[in-house]
Amino acid sequence: MDAAMLKYVLVGGGVAGGYAAREFVKLGVNPGELAIFSKEPVAPYERPALSKAYLFPESPARLPGFHTCVGSGGERQAPEWYADNGIDLHLSSEIAKADTKSKTITTAQGKTFEYGSLLIATGSTFINLADFKTPGADAGGIHYLREKDDADKLVEEIGANKGGEAVVVGGGYIGVELAACLALNSIRVTMVFPDPHFMPRLFTPEIASFYESYYKAKGINIIKGTSVTAFEKDDQGNVVKVILGDGRSLSTNLVVVGIGARPNLGPFKGLLEEEKGGFKVDSSFRSSAEDVYAVGDIATFPLKMYGDRRRVEHVDHARKSAIQAVQAIKAAEKGETVDDYDYLPFFYSRSFDLSWQFYGDNTGDSVVWGLDGASASGSKFGAYWINDGKVVGAFLEGGSPDENKLLARVARQRPSVSSKKDLISGGLDFAAKI
Ligand SMILES: Cc1cc2nc3c(=O)[nH]c(=O)nc-3n(C[C@H](O)[C@H](O)[C@H](O)COP(=O)(O)OP(=O)(O)OC[C@H]3O[C@@H](n4cnc5c(N)ncnc54)[C@H](O)[C@@H]3O)c2cc1C
Repeated sequence: MDAAMLKYVLVGGGVAGGYAAREFVKLGVNPGELAIFSKEPVAPYERPALSKAYLFPESPARLPGFHTCVGSGGERQAPEWYADNGIDLHLSSEIAKADTKSKTITTAQGKTFEYGSLLIATGSTFINLADFKTPGADAGGIHYLREKDDADKLVEEIGANKGGEAVVVGGGYIGVELAACLALNSIRVTMVFPDPHFMPRLFTPEIASFYESYYKAKGINIIKGTSVTAFEKDDQGNVVKVILGDGRSLSTNLVVVGIGARPNLGPFKGLLEEEKGGFKVDSSFRSSAEDVYAVGDIATFPLKMYGDRRRVEHVDHARKSAIQAVQAIKAAEKGETVDDYDYLPFFYSRSFDLSWQFYGDNTGDSVVWGLDGASASGSKFGAYWINDGKVVGAFLEGGSPDENKLLARVARQRPSVSSKKDLISGGLDFAAKI
């Protein structure tokens, strides 16, 4: 075969890509042994910044400021870092074809490489309203957010629409964060989503009501329980009106859609066993194909704590799964194995001057504490989820780093609890006593 041989190939230069590169360097790679292929034109960066500080009107975050691994307090791996460590970083290089039998990958430009070990970290792609054949979904002025290029287009439109109106479609974490950023840029925002409240997959109605009141106080209009059914365009093909299922319509030149994401299996689809929409991997992130590993958003992995298998679309897992897979690859070379991946689910979000964290599982009954009278920033309240008599999940708004650590400890230890009243009256003290 006339293909260059690479010992380690990493496809995807996102969050997991950046953390995997760091782990390879930490454990030792010789110059030329590791190559990264990324569709994006920039070196791996901390993706969550795109829906937060990247869109701020004052002192916005810009590259190289948020390259991985600064998001977890690590070194900022600017493009020179890759060169200095002998890593071939192929940017704007999409992998279009792969063959796990001949162990090759081929770029969209037609260059083929043979790999020793392959690590796939191709992340997710946003769900597009055009996928649902929503009339007018191809209009100009309708934005989605996944990559830096998307964020740059949004920054440009925000600049052109200061003092104007925008419609945010979706009440999940992307919609909630983007609505805040648009409002900070002096844009009058209306949020539209079909669910009964913000973040329905995590928030209880009481928690959501705090954030919705806060957003309304910031001038954000919230329309719940209905969906966008069509967009109207002007003669240039740009959006001018958003039509809602309840018969209302909203005039705007700027729409931002955040209605979820789906795993991006790309050219590897059909080559590896799948489960729950992702690639099925073991606790070392080894897939069904020899020497092929899958990490981050695309991996369906054993979640040891809960005895089930899940796919998780969160930055903390992207980082940790990448580290685990690289450690497993390096251990296998010495005939060794690594400990099972023992992940504790962790999500967070920040908007305006609010900031929450959640650890564990939001299954079973929930109890909310500290919410009475919480209406402004600086409020501290939380929630616990109880399943089978044990506290399995913990949420905290406004926690300090030390307080947030308490949540992690509770969710990890899953203490038994006999009465919900103890949790409500104890609040954060309950966690502190564990
Ligand atoms: C705007 C935004 C805000 C977020 N905020 C939060 C947050 O606050 N908290 C949280 O926990 N999570 C957040 N997330 C989710 C988190 O960023 C993801 O879970 C994480 O980035 C997943 O890492 P990954 O490496 O699997 O994929 P990604 O970081 O998406 O990286 C995938 C990379 O692979 C590249 N790629 C794809 N296909 C190919 C191919 N065929 N060839 C070459 N390259 C390819 C992509 O271009 C991309 O660079 C956010 C996500 C977005 C989009």
